[in-house]
Amino acid sequence: EKAEDGGGKEERILVSVRVRPLNVKEIEKNDPGDWECINSTTIIYKQSLPERSVYPAAYTFDRVFGSKSGTRNVYDEGAKEVSLSVVSGINASIFAYGQTSSGKTYTMSGITEYAIEDIYEYIKRHEERTFVLKFSAMEIYNEAVRDLLSTDSTPLRLLDDPERGTVVDKLTEETLRDKSHLKELLAICAAQRQVGETALNELSSRSHQILRLTIESTAKEFMGRESSSTLFAAVNFVDLAGSERASQVSSAGNRLKEGCHINRSLLTLGTVIRKLSKGRTGHIPYRDSKLTRILQPFLGGNARTAIICTMSPARSHIEQSRNTLLFASCAK
Ligand code: ADP
Ligand code: MG
Repeated sequence: EKAEDGGGKEERILVSVRVRPLNVKEIEKNDPGDWECINSTTIIYKQSLPERSVYPAAYTFDRVFGSKSGTRNVYDEGAKEVSLSVVSGINASIFAYGQTSSGKTYTMSGITEYAIEDIYEYIKRHEERTFVLKFSAMEIYNEAVRDLLSTDSTPLRLLDDPERGTVVDKLTEETLRDKSHLKELLAICAAQRQVGETALNELSSRSHQILRLTIESTAKEFMGRESSSTLFAAVNFVDLAGSERASQVSSAGNRLKEGCHINRSLLTLGTVIRKLSKGRTGHIPYRDSKLTRILQPFLGGNARTAIICTMSPARSHIEQSRNTLLFASCAK
């Protein structure tokens, strides 16, 4: 759905779906691929559905990417414009949503790399401004927030700042020297996450990762003077917890069996995104989870949002794939 802001500018959530190729395991088990992207916006279920099926045979989004699409393509058409709005002082968030092993991290890490290249390219071409870039990174696991740039794993508190809204207390924020400095920090975050994974078994399927790049820029002719020409915004790259954690809530049996923690952040994000996509009116329950509290300052106002929903084409994953397509449909 479309929403109008004060200036009459269109502001809506850009929703894409990416289908990864069948993996080796799926091929070995003769698990067939049941989904096909028939054009740039429509994905269809290839098998015949029972009469009066509750499931649609076709789904339409802003963009769909089939298993032959590369991440460059996904970035260009599903995330580039939203990511780059940060250089013009507009807050942005890019989310990867989908079940575990559907390609969230694969997609998000590629998108982050391409966005960084483009942002630094933009800076190079705009010598009339000075830019200050800062980077921070965090992980939310069981509603506890951890700094990915610190070896201290003590959970961080959220504070309400009268000017900035919710801030993560004591979160490391590195001022970037250059692009290679940022790449070093990204490698540290990836390593931090990997350590957690071996120690806690599949931690990444239960945790959300937020990488945040903050950009402040000022026109050089106004430097040192009080001026309204300073632009300030952040882009958040969000690799969400596996969406199977959210759908398990619908089945109490499963929940008991697994003894798994309900991923409150993922559920609340769904509600927030649905409400935002309907035009940002009424109460939006940002405060119901850590993830949405942390992202609230970057989602409101004229902020831009893109969601890439990833899925496996395999028949064995049909239930999760349908849940993902339902989530994507609600975000439209
Ligand atoms: P998730 O983060 O959703 O759990 P990953 O991004 O880790 O999933 O992907 C699972 C595996 O599938 C990885 O080995 C990854 O390299 C591979 N993969 C995911 N998407 C693609 C793709 N579009 N093309 C090729 N390989 C992919
Ligand atoms: Mg992952």
